[in-house]
Amino acid sequence: MAPNEYALLCLENPLLDIQAFGDQALLDKYGIKPNDAILAEEKHLGIYEDLLNNHEAKLIAGGGAQNTARGAQYILPPNSVVYLGGVGDDKYAAILHDAVKTAGLRVEYRVDKKEKTGRCGVVITGHDRSMVTDLGAANHYDLDHLKSPEVWKLVEEATHFFVGGYHLTVCPPAIQALAKEAAAKNKVFVFSLSAPFIPQFFKEPLDASAPYWDYVIGNETEALAYAESHGIETKDLKEIALALAKLPKNNTQRERVAVITQGTDPTIVAVGGKIEEFPVHAIDGNLINDTTGAGDAFAAGFTAGLVAGTSLKQAIDQGQWLAKLSIQELGPSFPFPKQTY
Ligand code: ADP
Ligand code: MG
Ligand code: MG
Repeated sequence: MAPNEYALLCLENPLLDIQAFGDQALLDKYGIKPNDAILAEEKHLGIYEDLLNNHEAKLIAGGGAQNTARGAQYILPPNSVVYLGGVGDDKYAAILHDAVKTAGLRVEYRVDKKEKTGRCGVVITGHDRSMVTDLGAANHYDLDHLKSPEVWKLVEEATHFFVGGYHLTVCPPAIQALAKEAAAKNKVFVFSLSAPFIPQFFKEPLDASAPYWDYVIGNETEALAYAESHGIETKDLKEIALALAKLPKNNTQRERVAVITQGTDPTIVAVGGKIEEFPVHAIDGNLINDTTGAGDAFAAGFTAGLVAGTSLKQAIDQGQWLAKLSIQELGPSFPFPKQTY
């Protein structure tokens, strides 16, 4: 069965990645950790110009769920995916528009004339990446945009929603609106935990969204952070996956599926009190270019599988496949000419 036009609607924070190689001294200068994702404070704001002027930074279209939206559109038929979020009216937004156009992704951005497009500074040290995000215009996304007649029509016509957890810091009411639309009409709601700081510091809106998760996706550090902040006293990822799957659920017509990726280790899937593990697509280390956005690419291949109505096993495998393609590119990108699963 061919999916509807714009069957998949995604929401989160459109960002431009400013990505450069650095060293411990650069991390120390801004007081950041080698492998982390944080929101920028005053003391971090100089990092963007610093990366551009002194570290030969590259500008790459980013934003977790926007990467996922591009990746899902890479797999699905034309006009399958639409993405929502807030941008400014500046050269950074123009770069994002170019990137999504190349990917065939439709975007409905809320444009803020007063705020800059959001930026994510990415400092690469060895196999680690430290991300510092200044949300800018992305932080001004609002329910008015989502509920505007043109946009809400897209919401009503979509059959699947993908929400990135990073949006919990921006507009929980928009997430609730999509979640409730999904539950009311038995549509599919996919949620990504996005980063450890989301369960740690945005517990209340996260927990309000949890009953609506049909699929919840996270990596190992996010799963551990969830457990620690929610009184789940184990570091066993399988136990945590089972606990996520078992959380109370609003739409009882769909059984919750919890998916935990862990880099090169097998992906853990919990559903109905049972665990299954799925190996990743192995790749020669020499072929890896940049693992930024591996998880976003996994979520893309996986969600595209759900939209196309494939089996859970095949959706997971398609996620591993797309992640493997993406890590051979610079930044969260996908190879052209297109490859097919
Ligand atoms: P995140 O990018 O959120 O940290 P992971 O590191 O868990 O997410 O990676 C997500 C998926 O990307 C993995 O399940 C796997 O399919 C793929 N992946 C990541 N790193 C590698 C690797 N070195 N080789 C092959 N696949 C990888
Ligand atoms: Mg990882
Ligand atoms: Mg991730």
